[in-house]
Amino acid sequence: MNIPQSSYPRVVIVGGGFGGIALAKKLSKKEAQVVLLDKHNYHNFQPLLYQVSTGGLEPDSIAYPIRKVLQGYPNFFFRLAQVQEVKTDTKRIKTNIGEIFYDYLVVATGSETNFFGNKSIESKGMAMKTIPQSLNLRSLILENFEQALLTDDLHERDGLMNFVIVGGGPTGVELAGALAEIKKGILPKDYPDLDTRRAQINLVQSGDRILPAMSTQASEKAEKFLENLGVNVWKNIRVTDYDGQKVSTDSNTEFKAETLVWAAGVKAVCIKGLNAKELLCKGDRIKVNEYHQVIGVEDVFAIGDVAQMETDKFPHGHPMMAQPAIQQGRNLGDNLVRLMENKPMNPFVYKDKGSMATVGRNKAVVDMPKFRFQGVFAWFVWMFVHLYFLIGFRNRVVVFINWVYNYIRFDREARLIIRPFKKQNRVEKDTLMQD
Ligand SMILES: Cc1cc2nc3c(=O)[nH]c(=O)nc-3n(C[C@H](O)[C@H](O)[C@H](O)COP(=O)(O)OP(=O)(O)OC[C@H]3O[C@@H](n4cnc5c(N)ncnc54)[C@H](O)[C@@H]3O)c2cc1C
Repeated sequence: MNIPQSSYPRVVIVGGGFGGIALAKKLSKKEAQVVLLDKHNYHNFQPLLYQVSTGGLEPDSIAYPIRKVLQGYPNFFFRLAQVQEVKTDTKRIKTNIGEIFYDYLVVATGSETNFFGNKSIESKGMAMKTIPQSLNLRSLILENFEQALLTDDLHERDGLMNFVIVGGGPTGVELAGALAEIKKGILPKDYPDLDTRRAQINLVQSGDRILPAMSTQASEKAEKFLENLGVNVWKNIRVTDYDGQKVSTDSNTEFKAETLVWAAGVKAVCIKGLNAKELLCKGDRIKVNEYHQVIGVEDVFAIGDVAQMETDKFPHGHPMMAQPAIQQGRNLGDNLVRLMENKPMNPFVYKDKGSMATVGRNKAVVDMPKFRFQGVFAWFVWMFVHLYFLIGFRNRVVVFINWVYNYIRFDREARLIIRPFKKQNRVEKDTLMQD
């Protein structure tokens, strides 16, 4: 890989997500050569992906060019590269654009959707972890409504208009709330010749409460908000299979839905060379010590979703959320400088700033370390926090204007089928039609 030689030690960061960017920012003014590798040339603000899927925001407003984040720092280099393997014995990384040597390697590859080995759900259900996946979901939702207009078969029409969202965490809750708002405010106007009141939004949660990582108060309130919006919240039910039209569960309940969104689990994105069984914990997270060092592998660190740091307070690692990734990136930045200066490193201590989820228009639930609140004020807090952490001034302005516009007009104007999406069962159907 063509990177200039430097007298500074080389820190290679794999992944320009929340953790990788926070680390790169910390190191860029220091005496280190920083090489950031990512398979995308943009940082993706995942907490707002559901708004892209539901036409509330354009994808461009939640993505930010990685090169721009660190523009003007002479020791910073970005390469668009997919990392394939880490060779810890020779301190080299293999990528699709060649090999690169590192003095220190930081893995910040995040996580991906975990279908727990269920191939039919993986191939016919929808994930929402990346911008292309969110655009696919947006297209599918709109295509299904266009399709619903074309059929006289009531059963088929219902299936096209129904949604099943699997997983009652923040992603599932926020998506269900947004879909309910669309059903209420947009679909009747867009499809006056379709009885869109029949569209069902089902949120299926295997446990006994939604938002299980938040307080019971937040769970109960969020469930109430969703029910008021007309979402069917199903608890203690596990989705077991999906054939593209019928959703099977471990109870007597079955759903007919052409759109199934799987928001029921993630697993770490692990890289070959660091995927030995003894290095990994549950969900393929890489085990690290309190300095983010991969156990037993010299000069290799992991932060964010991919890393599992087990502490007394967090025996199963920190939550797979943006804040731990950002704080770990910053801490590791300081520690790498200390390491280069032969100073002792500082152990990482996570400062829990709380968690939140929005449930449609005007409603959110917020759990802070000392306060808990729900409703309109929580919604304002939710908006402020998301705007604050969004990278890029332009993005903040665009998102803010969109939100104000959508709020006043009860609208979501990005409901566009820019790149049509063909679900696997649809493709089979089309082929049959050609026969
Ligand atoms: C829909 C959704 C909603 C969410 N909502 C919230 C929320 O409200 N609040 C919250 O705190 N958290 C939320 N999260 C979780 C949060 O986004 C993650 O915890 C956070 O992004 C983790 O940061 P990270 O730096 O570890 O990884 P990421 O931000 O995922 O970044 C990983 C980067 O690594 C790159 N990469 C991966 N593999 C390779 C490879 N082999 N080669 C090169 N590059 C690679 C990827 O392209 C990506 O840029 C949400 C997540 C999703 C999916």
